[in-house]
Amino acid sequence: MSSCIFCDIAAGHTDAELVLEDERAVAFADINPQAPVHLLVIPRKHIASLAEASEEDEDLLGHLLLLGARLAREQGIQDAGFRAVFNTNAHAGQTVYHIHLHILGGRSMKWPPG
Ligand code: 5GP
Ligand code: ZN
Repeated sequence: MSSCIFCDIAAGHTDAELVLEDERAVAFADINPQAPVHLLVIPRKHIASLAEASEEDEDLLGHLLLLGARLAREQGIQDAGFRAVFNTNAHAGQTVYHIHLHILGGRSMKWPPG
């Protein structure tokens, strides 16, 4: 086990059930869902946050977004709408410092967020 829970999940070292995986990324349900559908899409590579990503991660970040869109389609929330969020650092409420894309849907959401 590493010191990063999301690295452990990506490596299959936990009992987290993956809803999708490929060579670069995995997706799984958030343990504390904030909407009827709440998935997290993460790269296998450890990047602490969007603020820590670099140009070499450009393709990887695009890949995460497209996987998020694919999951939204597969989960049936695409047409009604969904939110794709990278909380970044303290003011955004980031709690896990392994970059993750939240995909939230299945209910109406407000803007601006709290
Ligand atoms: P953040 O607040 O950093 O944007 O989001 C971290 C998210 O990870 C939270 O929504 C939290 O519920 C979720 N989370 C934290 N630890 C675990 C875990 O061990 N398993 C799963 N499935 N989700 C987790
Ligand atoms: Zn990590």
